Amino acid sequence: MSLMGQMMQMPLLISSLLTHAARHNGDIEVVSKRVEGDIHRTNWAEVELRSRKLAQALARLGCEAGDRIGTLAWNGYRHLEIYYGVSGSELVCHTINPRLFPQQVAWIINDAQDKVIFVDLNILPLVEKLVPSLPCVKHVVLMCDRDNMPREHSLPSLLCYEDLIDAEDGHYTWPSFDENAAASICYTSGTTGNPKGAVYSHRSSVLHAYAVALPDAMCLKGTDVVLPVVPMFHVNAWGTPYAAALVGCKFVLPGHHLDGESLYKLFESEGVTMSAGVPTIWMGLLNYVKANNLKFSTFKTTVIGGAACPPSMIRTFENDYNVEVVHAWGMTELSPVGTLGRLKSKHANLAPEAKQKILEKQGKSVFGVDMRIVDAEGNVQPWNGVATGDLEVRGHWVIDSYFNVDKSPLHDGWFPTGDVATIDSDGYMQITDRSKDVIKSGGEWISSIELENVLMAHPAVHEAAAIAAHHPKWDERPLMVVVKKPDAEVSKEELLAFFKGKIPNWQTPDDIVFVDELPHTATGKLYKLKLREQFRDHKLPTA
Ligand code: AMP
Repeated sequence: MSLMGQMMQMPLLISSLLTHAARHNGDIEVVSKRVEGDIHRTNWAEVELRSRKLAQALARLGCEAGDRIGTLAWNGYRHLEIYYGVSGSELVCHTINPRLFPQQVAWIINDAQDKVIFVDLNILPLVEKLVPSLPCVKHVVLMCDRDNMPREHSLPSLLCYEDLIDAEDGHYTWPSFDENAAASICYTSGTTGNPKGAVYSHRSSVLHAYAVALPDAMCLKGTDVVLPVVPMFHVNAWGTPYAAALVGCKFVLPGHHLDGESLYKLFESEGVTMSAGVPTIWMGLLNYVKANNLKFSTFKTTVIGGAACPPSMIRTFENDYNVEVVHAWGMTELSPVGTLGRLKSKHANLAPEAKQKILEKQGKSVFGVDMRIVDAEGNVQPWNGVATGDLEVRGHWVIDSYFNVDKSPLHDGWFPTGDVATIDSDGYMQITDRSKDVIKSGGEWISSIELENVLMAHPAVHEAAAIAAHHPKWDERPLMVVVKKPDAEVSKEELLAFFKGKIPNWQTPDDIVFVDELPHTATGKLYKLKLREQFRDHKLPTA
């Protein structure tokens, strides 16, 4: 029989991150560029107090343990307070991507059964349209003060965030409960069907926060100034709102202005040392600093992931701006961080090009996530940097099942990521392809099936395939390859116009080419790989 440990049992709760930050680093600043346009300053102690008041307000609105609370908001201090006020009081914080197609947003809210939704000022028009189709939503809260509340709106009622906070006294004690309780939910993008909810627990989120803060991961210190460019609606901004509280560093939230100029000014004025985001964002920032012949005075490290980081971007950051790039891989189902690219001590004496080759890979596992690659039959493949296989992971913050879905996504106890990768003998993983056929435009997914379904409904179209074509700014943009029905006549312009109103405008394909036939696999499916090879050098008119 085991001899039991004799240490205190304290559940790993998200509220403990914030109470630690408030008690030990209470005066450290949290700075936000607000939707209202100005810069707002607060600190961890104030964030903790207001999160408690928010918890009181939610209880007054009738919210009970386990209720889902939605957010449609950019990165800002009120969103941070909702993260903590909601999860800390045993409610579940459901962050929603406002850039999704409205019907998808409605589907997600109804699936999660959100009882209350918090909305940033400039997202209210979307919510006004959706609310009639959201019977579960009992309250909509606009994240602003009384002066900014709109005089007119179409909602039956609209609450003011600052009124809710002002009505409470903050005499609230964070409850203690099971660390395996749900803390937050984030939905994957629906690529082959409806989006699916990944439900993070308090335990998984706290362990993830510990792990991403580690020196071989994001290497966060109390002296850092961290600015997550990655949105708080995209997998909890990669865990930075939790990790920043854990280390007690200054936290800067950029709102919805993510263009190069706005980011550069905020980086400089707030002394940002560390950031994280998708490659597209960094392209905008690098273009701006280059065009204006600028340098960064404090920016030292950036974590780049969500899509493959181009090697040239790593080089530019390091060689021209002295900013270290940490290439990371992860996904919604992993909270999201799985691997990060940092060198081992054995690499210290390698030539710069050899080091660069290692850093271009997606990196090695952080403690808490194990990985393997398997072939189509499920045979585990060797770690030799050459053999490719389907990447599978398991660990403390890897999902076990999706919200409201009975069927287990696991294969032999591992989560199949849908990515294809190699792993070398030092444990560095490299994504070589993805089995899914979604198109990633500026870090946002576009479903190829959705695009195909639109065109397949056109009377002149026999068959249509959507593939990703290279785009210098957005990384990938959709290209449609179309076979017309015999004797049918239709122009590219007519087909492009056919997308209007059926998908969000930004997802409209950049180009359409007509072919006599499309390649198919033996089972009659579109042979996308071949098609991508065929159009590898296709130049988009928008490029
Ligand atoms: P999401 O769940 O939206 O965060 O998307 C996760 C997917 O993004 C992964 O399964 C990969 O296909 C892709 N991805 C994330 N990070 C990287 C990376 N560093 N390189 C290549 N693909 C990536």
